Amino acid sequence: MSPRVVGADDVDSAAQAGILAVGPRDVVTPLARERARERGVEIVVATPGTTAAVSGDRRARPTSSVPAGDPGPGAAATSSVAPPRPAPAAPRPSPAGARPPTVTGRSATAPRPVRPPSGALFRRGAPLPRAVRPGAVRRAVVVGAGNVGTVTAMRLADADVFGEIVLVDVDEGRARGVALDLAHSAALGGFATRVRGCETVEEAGAADYVVITAGRARQPGMSRADLVGTNAAIVGDVAARLARTSPDAVLVVVTNPLDEMTQHAWRASGFPAERVVGMAGVLDTARFRALAAPAAPDRPDRVRALALGSHGEEMVIPLSQATVGGGPLTDAVDRAVLDAAVDRARGSGAEVVGLLRSGSAFLAPGTAAASMVLAMVRDTGEVLPAAVLADGAYGIRGVYVGLPVRLGRGGVREIVEVDLAPAELAALRAAADRIRERVGALAP
Ligand code: NAD
Repeated sequence: MSPRVVGADDVDSAAQAGILAVGPRDVVTPLARERARERGVEIVVATPGTTAAVSGDRRARPTSSVPAGDPGPGAAATSSVAPPRPAPAAPRPSPAGARPPTVTGRSATAPRPVRPPSGALFRRGAPLPRAVRPGAVRRAVVVGAGNVGTVTAMRLADADVFGEIVLVDVDEGRARGVALDLAHSAALGGFATRVRGCETVEEAGAADYVVITAGRARQPGMSRADLVGTNAAIVGDVAARLARTSPDAVLVVVTNPLDEMTQHAWRASGFPAERVVGMAGVLDTARFRALAAPAAPDRPDRVRALALGSHGEEMVIPLSQATVGGGPLTDAVDRAVLDAAVDRARGSGAEVVGLLRSGSAFLAPGTAAASMVLAMVRDTGEVLPAAVLADGAYGIRGVYVGLPVRLGRGGVREIVEVDLAPAELAALRAAADRIRERVGALAP
């Protein structure tokens, strides 16, 4: 039988059984391995005579535990020895020296656009993502210990990959209070990461990754753009100081208005563009996935999509690229229902603000910011939507806008060009034009 590519969707399908049997020549994608770890699915190689665990729970497992009917001629075999695997390369201490982002062009000789834009994209020859040793990455700093910063820090701590997480907040005592509270959860969360709080980025020390959530959040009746003056002063100051204290860090900007603040942080830091990214697309995509899944009907994590453009009115969710269970989402769900889900995703931030009556969404945003950092730390090669400096891809240049990117240890590895429908591409370019105008108004 010819080898097959085993992706994250296969892992999802096997989640209930808790075990996924693959052939000895099958290619298990990095994301599938990652997903298996997350969901506790054991991937076993079934060969004539042996069955051995390769991923998820790495403990060897006797063949008799493979459910009846599972594929693989080794179903009656007895050996449970894990096959030898290449030793993982030592993790780099800092993301410095990353390659600049490259753009997949559209010339005849350029690689074909990557589609579907699934997180399971597999770059031939890419190093397999490694389980990151606890404490292997020195330090993550979260600036702003408010609602979003707190959830971000909690998700990062739970991942147990950092030596230390430092929360920073100008509100005296706040970051230290949140840090102490979070540290108290170590035994419950199962992490060994130290958690510390302080008032300045200088006290935090040099970081590998910094998430900037400092600033004001929206209140009912406010648009994200209403925050621009206040937050630009905060983000500009924080980014300039981080450039001195953490010159090799990757900055993940969360503060709104997101696209403008990310470009502002990039300018203020003087960092190369691949080390300054904005978080919005991961959140907006997650909102769409949650809203579309019941109509699919399937689990939100089996719906794949990309929210591009701006984090606001000019958000673009190209339905041509959305899938469920590997097939086009538009085949599974009525177009009017999907259009409604897109609209609601676009307004989801305001919907939450209206219900909370004080402050804005923080659970999904904090989780989204942490997931971007963890995708970089784990070097998964996942393609995620993020605000990045466009460099010609999609015919857009010189402005931060939400695009599909492949993240790696050092930040943005590359901007990935997917095949958008003409109307989707036009909407994306229009979003970039609007952001450019707003950034222009902000320029010193
Ligand atoms: P919050 O008010 O709960 O927390 C903000 C914190 O920043 C406060 O604790 C404040 O003291 C602190 N702060 C202010 N200036 C600072 C400085 N110079 N240095 C350090 N800390 C400073 O707000 P929140 O709900 O956590 O939201 C934070 C930001 O994230 C807001 O701008 C919000 O609009 C934005 N946000 C973005 C997204 C997104 O998708 N990008 C989603 C949700 C929220």
